[in-house]
Amino acid sequence: MTGMEGKTVSLEENIRKVRENITLAAREVGREPGEITLCAATKTQSDGTIRAAIAAGIAVCGENRVQELTAHLDADAYAGSELHFIGHLQTNKVKQVVGRVELIQSVDSLRLLEAIDRQAAALALRQNILLEINIGRESSKSGVLPEEAEALAQAALAFPNIRLRGLMAIPPVYPLGEGRRFFREMRQLYVDIKRKMAHNENDINCLSMGMSGDYMDAVREGATLVRVGTALFGAREPVFPQG
Ligand SMILES: *Cc1c(COP(=O)(O)O)cnc(C)c1O
Repeated sequence: MTGMEGKTVSLEENIRKVRENITLAAREVGREPGEITLCAATKTQSDGTIRAAIAAGIAVCGENRVQELTAHLDADAYAGSELHFIGHLQTNKVKQVVGRVELIQSVDSLRLLEAIDRQAAALALRQNILLEINIGRESSKSGVLPEEAEALAQAALAFPNIRLRGLMAIPPVYPLGEGRRFFREMRQLYVDIKRKMAHNENDINCLSMGMSGDYMDAVREGATLVRVGTALFGAREPVFPQG
């Protein structure tokens, strides 16, 4: 057996385990496991690993650097899965993302909304987006502050080539369980915005929160999409911060 086959076997096992945990967490709080989408965070993974994950049943991939996104798209590595952009997006890179991904999860400014709308209009499409919320008010993180979320959501609704689908957050890292209050606050923001702004049930329908260390808590608190990397692919090589 080659090393690659070994990796594929553990990838399948990891996917099964994560899905099982999502199911357990959902059942605990009386939710349907089918309401929750597993998005594989594929940063630093190779074309081969991404293809193996999709072959093993991953239906949504989330990429967080434009450079990696472009390289994997050129190699057609995401074939068979839905693609999301989950990283910080600079306005000057919007052209490389709009229309190439189903959902941009990480929109956090009016300037970025304007740039996305302009590019989507040029391509004659409507881009699905989430607003990223800096729920822990951390200076090191991107995202709009919770009290600014509603105004930015209203602004997003006014752009003809943008469709607002919901909210996303990367809460602060806390010992297991202690971060739940941030998920709860996100859920409240999401419910409020949905109640005020959604025209129908499927309009604003995505609450993206939870990663390898805390996705079960996120599901218990209402996440409809979890973004999981390490628990599927194993630990990543350290990388320099984006910039
Ligand atoms: C890397 C990443 C994840 C997944 O992180 P893990 O801890 O490896 O599961 C989720 N969301 C975003 C935005 C990421 O960049």
